[in-house]
Amino acid sequence: MRIHLSILFFLVVCSFISILLTNCQSANSQQEGSDISYVDTLLLQPGKDGKVRLSDEQWEKILKPGAYAVLREKKTEFAFSGSLLKNKKEGTYLCAGCHQPLFSSATKFESGTGWPSFYDIIAQTNVKEIKDESYGMNRIEVVCSRCDGHLGHVFEDGPVPTGLRYCINSAALLFDEK
Ligand SMILES: [Zn+2]
Repeated sequence: MRIHLSILFFLVVCSFISILLTNCQSANSQQEGSDISYVDTLLLQPGKDGKVRLSDEQWEKILKPGAYAVLREKKTEFAFSGSLLKNKKEGTYLCAGCHQPLFSSATKFESGTGWPSFYDIIAQTNVKEIKDESYGMNRIEVVCSRCDGHLGHVFEDGPVPTGLRYCINSAALLFDEK
């Protein structure tokens, strides 16, 4: 009988400890759920097709207003207003929406136009080029291939070796210093 009682006592203590542990775990997961960067990382996970697809409401929550206006509403920032225009540091320029690498500082040049300009992209597959006939102009729009965010336009008056000028809004980019 004594043995039975001690086993029963042992079982009661075990279940009490497991209840305590379960409560701690659920408190932890609630803390993680309220952490915005944790949520963002999950949101920006590409799907099976490699695309990041968020609703306008979700983009609005995670992007700065200037980045939202350019990336999602195809607006253009004022010339000479962008924070990365005069950036001469070595590093990589990422899409401000989905963080895909887009341009290397090695291909940035001073075009005099008032927008950050690059003569090449990091990989052909990281951007998509779309014919843009808005405002009565014939231009080639450049969008991020992963999140379809508008970046700017590409023109054929750039320097060697490509002869291209990727004219990109600062607000559509994040800079990752080397
Ligand atoms: Zn992107």
